[in-house]
Amino acid sequence: MIYFVGAGSGAPDLITVRGARLLGQADVIVYAGSLVNPALLDYKKEGCAVYDSAKMTLEQVIAVMAPAAKAGKTVVRLHTGDPCVYGAHREQMDELDRLGLAYEVCPGVSSFCGAAAALRAEYTLPGVSQTVILTRMEGRTPVPEREQIEALAAHGATMVLFLSAGMLDKLAARLIAGGYAPDTPAAIVYKATWPDEKVVRTTVAELAEAAAREGITKTALITVGGFLGDAYERSRLYDPSFSTGLREASR
Ligand code: SAH
Repeated sequence: MIYFVGAGSGAPDLITVRGARLLGQADVIVYAGSLVNPALLDYKKEGCAVYDSAKMTLEQVIAVMAPAAKAGKTVVRLHTGDPCVYGAHREQMDELDRLGLAYEVCPGVSSFCGAAAALRAEYTLPGVSQTVILTRMEGRTPVPEREQIEALAAHGATMVLFLSAGMLDKLAARLIAGGYAPDTPAAIVYKATWPDEKVVRTTVAELAEAAAREGITKTALITVGGFLGDAYERSRLYDPSFSTGLREASR
């Protein structure tokens, strides 16, 4: 069996109980060495073969996993955060389907959740935004025309930008062109939940300057929106004057 496992955003004890158990059972681990904390390999058993996918192609990854799975071994493909965002596990699953090999996915704590924890923030504040847009600037991977930053920024919703920390001048200009006021609060979260985590609070207009000052060019998320400010409405769910399915209003 092959297991795609979300490693979590960095801290080795943020992996799920299931993920840690699978790492302990694995005969082969293929991990994304560019972003997965190597401390997670401490969960492996003796004799487990370990491969760093940062130096491998899709074909090479499959060439390691497929024969091991066919031989009845347990294989863990360890992805940073949760594999479902920018994880490139779909193409691996499709190859495994083609080969008739079974796999399962074990979710992990995505870095956008790790970043919210680092910020002690709630992305979906009543009266501020009820939507989180996860996106990126285009790099070598193009972004569809209808998902350009300006178009997404026009919603004024909470935005979390992956893979964009090296392009903050351009990002800020495009966020502002899309409708965010230059003084909209923004934050850069570098290596969320790692020991060297850094949280930089700033504004959209000052994103690039703030990152340069802190020497941040990668492994960071950019978060933008009023959720980083002070104003919001309290929740209906815990409001004494509202009844819910589980609680009668008390006043
Ligand atoms: N699947 C991953 C994302 C992989 S894409 C997840 O769920 O988090 C890689 C990008 O994710 C990086 O360029 C960076 O923008 C972001 N990232 C990954 N780990 C991070 C961390 N611990 N802190 C901040 N950003 C991180």
